[in-house]
Amino acid sequence: MAPTSCSLCRDAKAILKRPKTGQQICKDCFFFVFETEVHHTITESELFKPGDRVAIGASGGKDSTVLAYVMKTLNERYKYGLDLFLLSIDEGITGYRDDSLETVKRNQQQYDMPLKILSYNELYGWTMDAIVEQIGKKNNCTFCGVFRRQALDRGAASLHVDHIVTGHNADDIAETVLMNIMRGDIARLGRCTLICTQGEDTIKRSKPFKYAYEKEIVMYAYFKKLDYFSTECIYSPDAYRGHARTFLKDLEAARPSAIIDIIHSGEAFEVKEEIKAAQKAQQTCKRCGYMSSNDLCKACTLLEGLERGMASSVITDRARKKMDAIGPAPDNIRTIPLFRSTPTIAVELPSQS
Ligand code: SF4
Ligand code: ZN
Ligand code: ZN
Repeated sequence: MAPTSCSLCRDAKAILKRPKTGQQICKDCFFFVFETEVHHTITESELFKPGDRVAIGASGGKDSTVLAYVMKTLNERYKYGLDLFLLSIDEGITGYRDDSLETVKRNQQQYDMPLKILSYNELYGWTMDAIVEQIGKKNNCTFCGVFRRQALDRGAASLHVDHIVTGHNADDIAETVLMNIMRGDIARLGRCTLICTQGEDTIKRSKPFKYAYEKEIVMYAYFKKLDYFSTECIYSPDAYRGHARTFLKDLEAARPSAIIDIIHSGEAFEVKEEIKAAQKAQQTCKRCGYMSSNDLCKACTLLEGLERGMASSVITDRARKKMDAIGPAPDNIRTIPLFRSTPTIAVELPSQS
């Protein structure tokens, strides 16, 4: 049987079936359509302006490695005029993050971008290893997610960047839509499908891979032979998300457009004014100055729980009240430095070779 020719250029031999569309295409056309779709996502949403300093949240995993590579390529090809940085958070997970950070350090050399690494230990005085030792493996991802969010903002502030881009892809967003529906958390639906978010006092964040399928990101990394780290975190990821993921993969197998359709469904939900009104107004944390919807931000609350040896009971408002009832926080507990008052930390520049 004669080899199938590429359905886009009609010239080269088709060597892959595009997961998003089912088209049989050649490698070069795949690279081009993948990059061009990301470029369109960026330009249609007007994510950047010339001169922006942009930090790429880099974990060494496939999504952020492909994001760094594609951002560099598009910045050069379309002359976005961006200053790109790599920003990594070291959660302190032995045998996982220490290895993946080695990949980021190699990416720094390969992509010739400045790299900043900020650790939980430096910021909170706790590593995830120490947290899991205290609280076990049940709520570890809650701590990790809250701490990462704030660490990224603080790392970005120290780099003086205008914008953080993350490697969240279409599958991640569709999963979050499903999870919010399954939890009845309709108020969050609108926010989780936004390509770009910005709190009053936080740095703009966006997801240039909002419409990029995970399978295509893996394919891109594979055919480009990118250097990435593929091991999963040693602490069990969110089990509920796992159910949403399995369900989504089943839907995708039956109909590949399901992923984009779910994102569009999330976008189409209209949140009633009274639900919006019920969401708490933002203020600044009284202890660390980070934005918060309560007196204390989530990270300060969780940190206080850890310091007082009551960490597993400070996830909910009710549990927080229980901790307050025992008494005020002792003066000698570790706290997070005041937001934006941290001195600018030197950025490691790639060595010239
Ligand atoms: Fe952190 Fe959980 Fe992700 Fe591991 S799986 S890096 S503990 S959020
Ligand atoms: Zn082709
Ligand atoms: Zn705080």
